Amino acid sequence: MTSRNQQLFELSQKYIPGGVNSPVRAFKSVGGTPIFFRRGQGAYVWDADDKTYIDYVGSWGPLILGHAHPEVIKAVQAAAQDGLTFGAPTEAELEIAQLLCTLVSSIEQVRLVSSGTEATMSAIRLARGYTGRNRIIKFEGCYHGHDDALLVKAGSGALTFGHPSSAGVPAGTTSSTVVLDYNDLASVEQAFSQFGDEIAAVIVEPVAGNMNLVAPKSGFLPALRELCTQHGSVLIFDEVMTGFRVGLECAQGLYRIKPDLTTLGKVIGGGMPMAAFGGRRDIMQCLAPLGPVYQAGTLSGNPVAVAAGLATLKQVQIPGFYENLAARTRQLVEGLAAAAKKHAIPFCAQAVGGMFGLYFRENLPASYAEVMECNRESFNRFFHAMLQEGIYFAPSAFEAGFVSTAHGEAEISKTLDAADRVFGTLK
Ligand code: PMP
Repeated sequence: MTSRNQQLFELSQKYIPGGVNSPVRAFKSVGGTPIFFRRGQGAYVWDADDKTYIDYVGSWGPLILGHAHPEVIKAVQAAAQDGLTFGAPTEAELEIAQLLCTLVSSIEQVRLVSSGTEATMSAIRLARGYTGRNRIIKFEGCYHGHDDALLVKAGSGALTFGHPSSAGVPAGTTSSTVVLDYNDLASVEQAFSQFGDEIAAVIVEPVAGNMNLVAPKSGFLPALRELCTQHGSVLIFDEVMTGFRVGLECAQGLYRIKPDLTTLGKVIGGGMPMAAFGGRRDIMQCLAPLGPVYQAGTLSGNPVAVAAGLATLKQVQIPGFYENLAARTRQLVEGLAAAAKKHAIPFCAQAVGGMFGLYFRENLPASYAEVMECNRESFNRFFHAMLQEGIYFAPSAFEAGFVSTAHGEAEISKTLDAADRVFGTLK
């Protein structure tokens, strides 16, 4: 008998390219039929066939309080009652802007947008407008959304200019983007010594969460800060994923670095489409209507999204929030590593705050190349077997995972029991 998931997927492919509205949802990397979600509550989701899963994706990061948190839902309902959008300023926008500036010390001014892609795209344009320079540096394996200038893969050999990683992106658009290896400080130093005074910005995920999870080596982020300061380039921390996910002051608080600009998304929208970019006042004031850098949005600062964001940010400020989240996430990764070890599976795992990486290899990867060495086939078998057990991890070996405060002892222990059975079958 065909499942409802299968029926929906088949029909969706008729009307939606690949059946999905964002590619990773199609399960292409792991194979099989994607799950159509019907409902979420706390740490759990229910699919179209009414099977229940413990969810470690959390909509790819926003749901730090779990699904349908009562305070968030209440705030969204109240905001919706008063009108969905005005395209004009509201007091709640001021409230969230003020809050973001208070919580993140590098942010003096902030502008709200509707997606992480918009935030990074705008930050890059702003950095170029502010410096009057074109070149940007990004790192292989870091994802910053699908802006043309950032859909770049490395050329052959370090310091060559990037090639488009998508059809439809003109080579001219990516020719000013240099793609370097994450954590490879020597190549960044070389790039700056070669054309430092042409570099508008360095954009980096302070903890890389789009190539599984790669943590910054000690010294990497401070050196980026130092080089950007020396050369008058704008340091952009893309904290769309890490912002309010790894700590109350985001990754920049964790590693004690002050970027010039920060992009935020996911958690700050509490599950609604909202993101932001902000930073130094002198840079932010280059934006229209004050300055020459144009940027706009009909739904920017949408009142319902802002309400969800404010309600979420209220919860994360409760003392102990991040300590508890980090402890829970650590419990998960340590338990998974122990279960794999028991069955002699080459595997390791790590957590940073409420995000985590799982790797089918002996030791933690520090670069994109090392992530690529993970055993993809083992991951895919693990993923599907866990799914059978009712545990939903990201459907790709190259994505980070997320824990929420709705994940309690019971959910972690169910997950670890399942992992013990599954690792046992993977030999
Ligand atoms: N930057 C980072 C670090 C991200 O993880 C993502 C999305 N996963 C984006 C930017 C793009 O955000 P969005 O999907 O909201 O456009």
